[in-house]
Amino acid sequence: MRVSGSWQRAARGAMLLGSDGALSPTIFAEMSALAVKTGAINLGQGFPDEDGPVEVLDAAKRAIDAGLNQYPPGIGMPVLREAIASHQARFYGLTPDPDTEVLVTVGATEALAATILALTDQGDEVVTFEPFYDSYAAMIALSGAEHRTVALRAPDFQPDLDELRRSVTDRTRLILINNPHNPTGTVLSRETLALIVELAHRHDAIIVSDEVYEHLTFGVSHTPIASLPGALDRTVTISSGGKTFNTTGWKIGWLTAPQQILQAILAVKQFLTFVGGAPFQPAIAAGLELPDSYFRGIALDLAHKRDVLSAGLRAAGFTVSEPRGSYFVVADAAALGFSDAAAFCRQLPDLAGVVAVPISAFVSDENKGEYASLVRFAFCKRVEVLERASAQLASL
Ligand SMILES: *Cc1c(COP(=O)(O)O)cnc(C)c1O
Repeated sequence: MRVSGSWQRAARGAMLLGSDGALSPTIFAEMSALAVKTGAINLGQGFPDEDGPVEVLDAAKRAIDAGLNQYPPGIGMPVLREAIASHQARFYGLTPDPDTEVLVTVGATEALAATILALTDQGDEVVTFEPFYDSYAAMIALSGAEHRTVALRAPDFQPDLDELRRSVTDRTRLILINNPHNPTGTVLSRETLALIVELAHRHDAIIVSDEVYEHLTFGVSHTPIASLPGALDRTVTISSGGKTFNTTGWKIGWLTAPQQILQAILAVKQFLTFVGGAPFQPAIAAGLELPDSYFRGIALDLAHKRDVLSAGLRAAGFTVSEPRGSYFVVADAAALGFSDAAAFCRQLPDLAGVVAVPISAFVSDENKGEYASLVRFAFCKRVEVLERASAQLASL
């Protein structure tokens, strides 16, 4: 039928459907299903296995009881926009206007989608690092833009600055970065951030910075690229409450941007979801107002978890990266004799009762070879679970 043909064509053109028109399950869905089927410990998908702060959970319950259950304002509830602005001032000295420079979204995912759709035209280029968070490639494809990547290579996953210089051109519309970085755990150096700002100026590009792991860094503090000289007036900064408050299912995200850029993004966002998560908005506001000790505490707690799982992986024989942030550690299975991480991950539930995902899930087809033996493990789980996983992995 013509009608079904046309909508299938758009998704297939963006390679979201297979050539047979079927939705191909992502590797994350496949691995999570494998975890359920085999009872293996799921270190594949990045979600915490404990609830976040009771202040945040209680605030959501109170909001429902108080009747905050209808459509909130399109740009987000004032209480949350003010809390986001105060948070940017408290941690980074940034002062977005809560009425015109802060937009609440349905997770960082919607902020990314609306930003990419609003700011790119057919044929524009979007530069990202590679590996990249999987929704980036999908949204760039749906927008009709071209995706160019700059490699992050083991062991430290820092970009080659000459490769970065060569990749940004006058065709570049957006430089889309993720810092701290999923899946590699890299935190970009100030030198790299400064070069990105310089290139954005030289080629008149907009910087989009996904900072959902801003509070989850280990031994280094987070520097938002918007805080560098010359960056603010051309940067969209994206974050979310999911990773900071262990509320990944609530999908309360936000962005801060100069007013005119924000208006363009809002124009798209209003027709994606319009709004979302009314009672969760004041709850995330309460979270953003927690004392500094909360934010220090979650980073220290997660650093310990990173150390526990990294030691387990090393003892099992993997070569292990040293993440400076995020939920994830990258382990090279080549040292154990496995050159194909995707095949290895399919066997891992049987071999050790653990689920992980291959880094190739975050890499374009033409570059999969370079990352073939690398595996991503999530350490945002209870220590007891990470210790059990480590013991099981020791049998490899
Ligand atoms: C989890 C994650 C997101 C999605 O955030 P939501 O708020 O759940 O939509 C975006 N970017 C990166 C890098 C992530 O890891």
